Amino acid sequence: MGRITLEKVQKKFGETEVIPPLDLTIEDGEFVVFVGPSGCGKSTLLRLIAGLEDVSSGEIRIDGTPATDLPPAKRGLAMVFQSYALYPHMTVRKNIAFPMKMAGMDQAEQDRRIKKAADALNLTDYLDRRPGQLSGGQRQRVAIGRAIVREPAAFLFDEPLSNLDAALRVGMRLEISELHSRLETTMIYVTHDQVEAMTMADKIVVLRAGNIEQVGSPLELYREPRNVFVAGFIGSPK
Ligand code: ADP
Ligand code: MG
Repeated sequence: MGRITLEKVQKKFGETEVIPPLDLTIEDGEFVVFVGPSGCGKSTLLRLIAGLEDVSSGEIRIDGTPATDLPPAKRGLAMVFQSYALYPHMTVRKNIAFPMKMAGMDQAEQDRRIKKAADALNLTDYLDRRPGQLSGGQRQRVAIGRAIVREPAAFLFDEPLSNLDAALRVGMRLEISELHSRLETTMIYVTHDQVEAMTMADKIVVLRAGNIEQVGSPLELYREPRNVFVAGFIGSPK
């Protein structure tokens, strides 16, 4: 569960084509990073997959099922927002439980999933605190916990670490990579940071002005950049 395919997916805002028709396959369990300069369309592409934006044309499939016309809640994907999207007046437990409560899930199942998420994220001792009593890294873990309890087919991250300081970012990168190996769930991770892309990805998708310039493993992009843009962006010697 967690294979996502895009077929000729295009996005226009008014007359402006932000994403020209593109094809992309994300395999089940892959850690895929969308990387490229600011304004190149990374967030838009992620939001199209999440269903937060409608495609102008083309088809999105999730595990073979057409998802193009499904609302976000029906796609079985979880978008991880930055930690500032937490509810400050709710405890960690309530923040994590929120999507399940909204879905009307029974309490025993909610408790089971909260325990699983707290174990996976080392948050067990913090469940009764409020976000204001946590460090930046802990808050970011709560935001991820809120996604884990939905048991999604894939996690979607949009620059989740951009408001953390440099030292914390390094730690959180490791934590997200560790979580990926533990859960073995598809993750799509958007960043403009080449180091994040090169250190976290199984597969990197390099974007420029909405176009996919190259798709490959970090090593493939490093050794065989297709053009000067990719070489320059990845920092390889070409
Ligand atoms: P990135 O995440 O790579 O920085 P975005 O996907 O946010 O880039 O934006 C890609 C392009 O689409 C930018 O030129 C941006 O101004 C434009 N854009 C994004 N969202 C909208 C919108 N809702 N309406 C009009 N233009 C938009
Ligand atoms: Mg963005």
